Order: sequence, then structure tokens, then C-alpha cells
Amino acid sequence: MKKIGVLALQGAFREHVEKIEELGYQAIEVRKSEDLEDIDGIILPGGESTAMGRLLSDFRMKAPLIEKIKSGMPVWGTCAGMILLAKELEDDATVHLGVMDIVVKRNAYGRQIASFEVDEVIERISDEAIPLVFIRAPYIVALGQEVELIHSVDGNIVAARQENMLVTAFHPELTDNKKCHAYFLKIVEDFACTQKKKSV
Ligand code: GLN
Repeated sequence: MKKIGVLALQGAFREHVEKIEELGYQAIEVRKSEDLEDIDGIILPGGESTAMGRLLSDFRMKAPLIEKIKSGMPVWGTCAGMILLAKELEDDATVHLGVMDIVVKRNAYGRQIASFEVDEVIERISDEAIPLVFIRAPYIVALGQEVELIHSVDGNIVAARQENMLVTAFHPELTDNKKCHAYFLKIVEDFACTQKKKSV
């Protein structure tokens, strides 16, 4: 059975663990670098990117995580997780993992609109409208050539993919809908097949 890591240093990780288990996969709470060794994919949850970035450094997980992602392990960053993956933040010199070719603006909707929800169809993910929950959310202000735009809301890019890396500015783990998790698990399955073919 495929094992899906969920970074569990801070933020909304339990909700991701529940969704992964509901979909019949094993979820592993990742708290130290050894936990990275035996997983087939990882979710970086929403929370506070500054705190999570600091904890990744303190627990010496930054370098091994970057290496795993660069070697092709599927990763999905939701909200703060997207900020962690970005190679650049707008108006902010901080770079956390810096692996994905996107420029991200933190708290992009301003502090006034702390949170909002819309129901939209994301063709790649679901035929039906799914709830998109934004909480002090970032959005993507620029995409590299290798990055595929998956969804925009009001002209702002809120979901994108670059090979093994998926990001969403919203929080599917805080809704009853499992389509986004199913989409990420499909990426994990596809990646495992590619790896198998390579090793034959
Ligand atoms: N505003 C948070 C940050 O900058 C992200 C919010 C979230 O993950 N819901 O890290």
C-alpha cells in the first residue's frame, strides 16, 4: 500500500491525514528526516509558512526534503505549503524550499478578506463544482514555462502543477470533498509506475 507523508510540524495536517485514510491509503505524519525515507508522496499543509519554514530548518529536514522533491517524489502544497515550495515570494526575500518555478504573494487578498469560499469546477480535478476554501490565502503572481496553470479564481492563479509538484492556494482538507486528494493520489500512482518502468 502506498504511504503518503503529511508534514506534521504545524498547521492543518490532521485533516489531510483523515482524507488520505478515507481514500484507503496509509498516512504517515512526518516530523523528522527519517520519516521521509519510506513515503511515496508528501503533503505540505496550510498553517503559517514562516513557522513551518523555521521548524523545517530546526529539525534539519529542509535539505532532505528538497532532495526528495528534486528526485521526483510527488508533493502537494496547500496554502502555506504552496508558499514553502515557491522559488520566490513577492515583496519578501524569504525562500523556504524554493523548488517550484512560481512567484507567490502571501496574504494576497489582504488582511480584511481573511477568508472566503467559492464553489467552482476545476476540469482537471472534477466534473462537478467543488468547494474552494481560502484562509488568509496566497496566490500565484507568476508561473515559469514548465508550470501548468490548473485554476484561477477572479483572474488570480490558485492552483498549478509542475511535474511532480502540485499547489493549491485553497484548503480541500477543510471540506467534505475528496476530489483534490484523489487527484494527488493519482499523481503518486502515476509517478510510482514511471519509477518502476525506469528500474526495469
Ligand atoms: N497566510 C499564511 C502564510 O503566509 C498561509 C495561510 C494558510 O495556510 N491558510 O503562511
